[in-house]
Amino acid sequence: MSKKIVVIGGVAGGMSAAVRSRRLDEKADIVVLERGPYVSFSNCCLPYHLSGEIEESCTLVLMTPHELQTQYNIDVRVKNEAIDIDREAKTVLIKNLETGEEYTEDYDYVILSPGAKAVDFPIPGLDTVPNFFLRTVPDAAGIHDTIKEKNIKDIVVMGGGFIGIEATENLRLAGLNVTLVEAAEQVLLQYDEDMIQLIHKELYDQGVNLKLNTRLEKIEDNKAYLSNGETVPCELLVKAAGVVPVSDLAEKAGLKLTEDKYIDVDQNYITSDPSIYAIGDAIKVTSRLAGDKIGLAMAGPALKQARFVADHICGIPTVNTGYIGSACIKVFDWNAAVTGLTERRLKELGKTNYDYAFVIPKDMVGIMSGSNSQFLKVIFEIPTGRILGAQAVGKGDVVKRVDVIAGMLKFQPTLFDLKDLELCYAPPFSIARDSVNFAGYVGLNLLNGVYRHVHVSDVRSLVEQKAYIIDVREPDEFDLGHIKGAVNLPLSQLRERMDEVPKDQPVYLHCRSSQRSYNALLALQQSGWDNIYNIAGSMLGLSYYEYFKDQTTDRESILTEYNFN
Ligand SMILES: Cc1cc2nc3c(=O)[nH]c(=O)nc-3n(C[C@H](O)[C@H](O)[C@H](O)COP(=O)(O)OP(=O)(O)OC[C@H]3O[C@@H](n4cnc5c(N)ncnc54)[C@H](O)[C@@H]3O)c2cc1C
Repeated sequence: MSKKIVVIGGVAGGMSAAVRSRRLDEKADIVVLERGPYVSFSNCCLPYHLSGEIEESCTLVLMTPHELQTQYNIDVRVKNEAIDIDREAKTVLIKNLETGEEYTEDYDYVILSPGAKAVDFPIPGLDTVPNFFLRTVPDAAGIHDTIKEKNIKDIVVMGGGFIGIEATENLRLAGLNVTLVEAAEQVLLQYDEDMIQLIHKELYDQGVNLKLNTRLEKIEDNKAYLSNGETVPCELLVKAAGVVPVSDLAEKAGLKLTEDKYIDVDQNYITSDPSIYAIGDAIKVTSRLAGDKIGLAMAGPALKQARFVADHICGIPTVNTGYIGSACIKVFDWNAAVTGLTERRLKELGKTNYDYAFVIPKDMVGIMSGSNSQFLKVIFEIPTGRILGAQAVGKGDVVKRVDVIAGMLKFQPTLFDLKDLELCYAPPFSIARDSVNFAGYVGLNLLNGVYRHVHVSDVRSLVEQKAYIIDVREPDEFDLGHIKGAVNLPLSQLRERMDEVPKDQPVYLHCRSSQRSYNALLALQQSGWDNIYNIAGSMLGLSYYEYFKDQTTDRESILTEYNFN
């Protein structure tokens, strides 16, 4: 007998589950309910309509109900909201939002993919300016059209997560003045604080008025009043202060929820009712690396879960191997990618047995035009050398490097695997020893105790403590900018002048990107110095790390000049 599948939510997860179900079962009766006006649209591309990169909002819609009916024989009903599920009778109560009519649809299986919704909270004066979320095609079109119609110049974006940053970038590219207000001390909390300073710098350099540790308190007379006491012009507000799972229908139907209101599912994405599955932003998944349950509001996981449940319903063997969490973003001229566990997450998990390699190799052979430095951080477990996560930021193809590590992370890789990874090489694409190999070398050196290091985030306090810091670059490089108080002892003169290096206190070495200082360190260490550290990231890493806070607070710089090259 043919089965009947009712899918609730017709975008990423829901529509993928419907189409896969059709491929596997030509006879199945498949109904998709979507309360919005569109199904199968590209949420991820919505921000790019704001800059005009995607010119017409209609192109954001990938397939219409008519196409889905004729090509896949799927009964897609937009503006139809599932308002209750009678699990005894196995029926869904549906409201046609255009006519107000309510009707029921019976089912053998329900697939819930209701997504997440933007966090909303009252802001005094909100109704005095146009204000939008950025979650649907009408949202994107509304922002775009309102800006044009009202000749808007000044926008406030509330929230520096992925959506807030993408909205900011695209509005700025459209020539608007954008203030980005973020309550945390950094944007993009999926990345570590040290890596995200590069993105803060890029936002600042591109003219974004970035306000961290700040909340939007009220709007009055086209001005936003901020918790730091400032007021900024605000003719339109984009609200992107995070998301929460949509689980009200599941709750009403008596399905089990997690404490934080996600729909609870087992390893097969089955809810507390064996006929009802749930996928996408509304559920938590198992972290393959930490073993706990995490919310992962991203398209890739939703689509994988969609395929999984369609397979499971249709009797195809499936295995849930958990999720590592991989994400990337373009921020003007820079790209940032992350996979696996970050330092922040490890701290939340109470872990201390880790360290990380921080390297800044070029993305392609340095003498090739268009080569760029890549800032790559690879976190590993001590003493096993197991790789826990990676982040990369740079102008070039950093996503490729993190994807390589993401691919490995599913298979419990160690630094030894990273060191020996064989990747494609020709000068326009990479270097013969790719960034990820470099990270493997550095990580193994640290794991094996070949040398010790400190991080860019440690240097300010070292300077304040008047620690002994040696800059091993050449004098002309030193003169262009250096750490205040650092001694210049070039690698090229080190062997003749070794006796100038003190033995009675810790010594911190650096150069431009830590390679020359690594050589200097090993020479000193093998000549009897044992209290000696490399500053990972050196002048380049430090310049990027310090810059944004130096520019936006009244603290004194620890550098005489920055070195960004
Ligand atoms: C602006 C933006 C940019 C993004 N960029 C990226 C990106 O670059 N990379 C990435 O990985 N992810 C990105 N995402 C996240 C990604 O889009 C989501 O993780 C993914 O869409 C989740 O799929 P889902 O099926 O769970 O929910 P959705 O795709 O949101 O679909 C849920 C649908 O269910 C409908 N619905 C809810 N309740 C009912 C009901 N009772 N009856 C009928 N219909 C209902 C909703 O109207 C909604 O259309 C982005 C999201 C947004 C909004």
